Amino acid sequence: MGSYDLIVIGTGTAAQVAARRVRRAGRSVAVIDHRPFGGTCALRGCDPKKVLVSGAEGIDLARRMRSHGVTGDLRIEWKDLIAFKRTFTEPVPRRREEDFAKQGIDGFHGVARFTGPDRVAVNDHILQGRHILIASGARPAVLGFPGAGHLTTSDAFMELEHFPGRIVMVGGGYIAAEFSHIAARAGANVAVLQRSARMLPTFDAEVVGWLMDKFAEIGVDVRTGNAVTAIERTGDEYRVHKQTPHGEAVASADLVVHAAGRVPDIAALNLSAANVAVAGGRLKLNDFLQSVSNPIVYAAGDAAAKGPPLTPVSSHDAKVVADNILEGTRHKADYRGVPSVAFTLPPIAAVGLSESAARAQTPKLRMKSAKVPDWYTARRIAESVYGYKTLVDEDSGHIIGAHVVGPHADEVINLFALAIRHNLTAADLKSAMFIYPTGASDIGYML
Ligand SMILES: Cc1cc2nc3c(=O)[nH]c(=O)nc-3n(C[C@H](O)[C@H](O)[C@H](O)COP(=O)(O)OP(=O)(O)OC[C@H]3O[C@@H](n4cnc5c(N)ncnc54)[C@H](O)[C@@H]3O)c2cc1C
Repeated sequence: MGSYDLIVIGTGTAAQVAARRVRRAGRSVAVIDHRPFGGTCALRGCDPKKVLVSGAEGIDLARRMRSHGVTGDLRIEWKDLIAFKRTFTEPVPRRREEDFAKQGIDGFHGVARFTGPDRVAVNDHILQGRHILIASGARPAVLGFPGAGHLTTSDAFMELEHFPGRIVMVGGGYIAAEFSHIAARAGANVAVLQRSARMLPTFDAEVVGWLMDKFAEIGVDVRTGNAVTAIERTGDEYRVHKQTPHGEAVASADLVVHAAGRVPDIAALNLSAANVAVAGGRLKLNDFLQSVSNPIVYAAGDAAAKGPPLTPVSSHDAKVVADNILEGTRHKADYRGVPSVAFTLPPIAAVGLSESAARAQTPKLRMKSAKVPDWYTARRIAESVYGYKTLVDEDSGHIIGAHVVGPHADEVINLFALAIRHNLTAADLKSAMFIYPTGASDIGYML
C-alpha cells in the first residue's frame, strides 16, 4: 500500500494546481485519472473549443467585411480545422505525465474509488492519504428521455471527422450557444431546442436579447419552450420528438448534441465508503472546500461545484485547498468578480451582479445600458451587435456588475472583473488610460 500526504483524484486544472503546490512544499503527492492526463479544459473544453471558434472567427470577419473592400468566399474545411485542434490537444497527456514525473508526483491510471475514509483504490493499488482531494470534474447530465443514448457529447462534437448538414442542439446554455455559432459558420443548418424561456439564462436577459439578433442573422433556429421528449434513429437520420408551446412536434437531424448541462462527476467514487456526505448529487462542503463529514477530504473545481464551473475557478479552488492543507484549514474560497463568457461571435460576457440582484441589494443603483452598434469598435468591423449594461453602487461608486455583448467583450470584461474583485470605483476605471482604439477604450463611455 502506498502512503501519500495528498492523493488527488483527477489530473485537470484543479488537480494540477493543488498537486504542484503541495509537492513544492516537500509533501508526497499522487494523482489518479482514468482518462488521458490533462483534464477537460486542455483536452475537451476551453482550449480545443476556442481553436474551433478561431476558425469560425476567420469566416465571420471576412463575411462581415465583404461589402467593405474584402472579396472572395471563404469556407471552413472541418477536417483540417480538427487536425489543427489536435496539434493543441494531442501533446497534452504526455507533457502532463512528464511534468508530474519531473515534480516527483506519482501518476496512476485508472478509476479511483474510495475504500475507506483515508483510502482510495485504483486498479490493484490501494493508496492511503493524509489528505484526499476530489478534483474529478463534471460530466454531461444524464437525460432521462428515451433515445438519450443517441446524443453526441461535447467531447465527441470536437472530434467529428465529417461535419453534418443538420444539427440539433439540446439545451440552451453556453455550450449550445458556442457550438451553434461554430456550426453555422461551418455551413450546418442548426436548431437549438431550449426548454426554458430564453437562451443563456445565466446572462442578462436584455443583453442576451441583443445577441439573439445574431443567432437569427446567421440562421440558427432557436426554439425556446421546447422540451425534448425522445430521440429515435430512422434510416440515416435522427428524429427529435419535442413538446412545444403549440403541442408535440418532431425535428429531423443528422446529429443531436447534448448541450443540456453538466453535473459533478462523483457517482463512481464510492463516497459512502469514505463517509463523504452528498446531497442532491453535490458534495456537502464547508467554505474551506472541505467535506463536512470527513475533514481529510477536500474538493475543488467542477467536482466541488461551489463556484461557477470555469477553469479559473478550478485553479482558485485548488490554491485554497493546497493552502488549507499546508497552513491549516483557514482559507475560504472567494468568488467575487468571477467573469464568465460565451464565445459566440460576437462574445457575450458578464461579471458581478445581475440587474435584479443589484436592485435588491443596492439602495442607490446607477445603471447604464445601451445598444451601441454605431460605436466605432463595432462599425470598424461591420459588427451589428454591440451593447452593454453597467451597474454601479451610487453611494460607494463601486462597480458591482457589468454585462457586455459585442467585439472584444471577452477581453473587456476582464477589466470590469479586476475592478469588482479589487473594489475599484467607476471613477477609477474612467480615469485609467486605455489604448485607443481598442475595446477597453469604450469602458469610459459604458460607465
Ligand atoms: C465544451 C466545454 C467548453 C468549456 N469552455 C470553457 C471556457 O471557455 N472557459 C472556462 O473557463 N471553462 C470552460 N469549460 C469548463 C472547464 O473546462 C472546467 O471548468 C474545468 O476544466 C474543470 O477543471 P477541473 O480540474 O475541475 O476538472 P477536469 O479538468 O474535468 O478534470 C477532472 C478529471 O478527473 C477525472 N476523473 C473523474 N472521475 C474519476 C475517477 N473516479 N477516477 C479517476 N479519474 C477521474 C476525469 O477523467 C478528468 O480528467 C468548458 C467545458 C466544456 C465541457
